[in-house]
Amino acid sequence: MSHALPSPDELSPETIAVTAGRPRWEPGAPVNAPVTMSSTYISRGEPAPGEPAYARYDNPAHHAVEEVVGTLEGACRPAVLFASGMAAIDATIALAPPGGRLVMPAHSYNGTLALARQLAALGRLRLSLVAIDQTDDVIAALEGGGASAPAAMLWIETPTNPLLEIADAPALIDAARAVGCVVAVDNTLATPLGQRPLDWGADLTVHSGSKYLGGHSDLVAGTVVAASAEHDSALREFRRIHGATASAADAFLLLRGIRTLALRMERVNASAATLARRLESHPAVKHVHYPGLDSHPGAAVARAQMRGGGGVIAIEVHGGAAAADAVCARTRSWAPATSLGGVESMLERRRRWPGEFPDVPESLIRLSVGIENVDDLWRDLDRALGGQV
Ligand SMILES: *Cc1c(COP(=O)(O)O)cnc(C)c1O
Repeated sequence: MSHALPSPDELSPETIAVTAGRPRWEPGAPVNAPVTMSSTYISRGEPAPGEPAYARYDNPAHHAVEEVVGTLEGACRPAVLFASGMAAIDATIALAPPGGRLVMPAHSYNGTLALARQLAALGRLRLSLVAIDQTDDVIAALEGGGASAPAAMLWIETPTNPLLEIADAPALIDAARAVGCVVAVDNTLATPLGQRPLDWGADLTVHSGSKYLGGHSDLVAGTVVAASAEHDSALREFRRIHGATASAADAFLLLRGIRTLALRMERVNASAATLARRLESHPAVKHVHYPGLDSHPGAAVARAQMRGGGGVIAIEVHGGAAAADAVCARTRSWAPATSLGGVESMLERRRRWPGEFPDVPESLIRLSVGIENVDDLWRDLDRALGGQV
């Protein structure tokens, strides 16, 4: 993608989100990257390098959004766009050598955990599950010892979904590098505006684009940004062979969503902080998990490594599963739906999913704070928590 503006090194992320991935400024050029709805391209003989031939191999509709995400993550190369966050995670874990050991948070996103468990059951890799907020334990798991060789890959999620634990990512990455272990960070909840794992020395940073990057609950996509050219080309090859390619329409929507990422994150960081503080003193609420609260065990680490506490809050309510289900049934503004990161606020009791792990309390409700008026959101939540219809 051509770039008509100052080098990204001189620009803030808020500006990059708006300006990167644009066509060169030539008279008559479109301001927005054109989207070509074509699966195949005219070619005779072997296509020249970079010449599109078939949209599963190289999809020109992806280039603009790949440039923006790569630049936002502080990489010197574009992201690799995938058909979903899970497809991106699958391709990333596939970088681990056969039989290698994967150290992963026991409270990873449940899809990530299901994938890792399946790969372990197939004998593709060995799995060490850890409490990602217990830095010494994670480092011990990385190093192995006894009959166990050092880990091949460390998976970090911070904050975790839905328990919002905070990993001391820079410390873990240093320890992983010391034993030659590849590090991938799922950066979905914090977004590249909240933290940039490659700056800490991570090898790969992964997103579900379906969440904050897209931001409007209208697409499914994923991205991986690789620090090394070797990982980048392995990811592109995996995408081509496995067919994990995003559609041109979703690439367009993702790019369009990212243009407002900074504004949306500013609003949801502020609103979530306000709501978390109010929820902490609500009589129906037993516990609030939010990394921006001083009561959070990872508050100091979060302050040191994140910009803003993010837009996701988890609350445990008094009265167990039934009480939590009743809260979700009573809201009028908060949409009772799964997923997070959209402009519209959403909530759900996570354990309604049989696949959610049992460490998540039955009464835990995950709140994804949107961009609506914060007092409207509070009144609706307060009424639902108070048992009024
Ligand atoms: C949603 C989510 C994913 C999976 O992304 P999809 O786009 O739904 O495949 C992975 N990690 C985290 C943290 C998520 O929230």
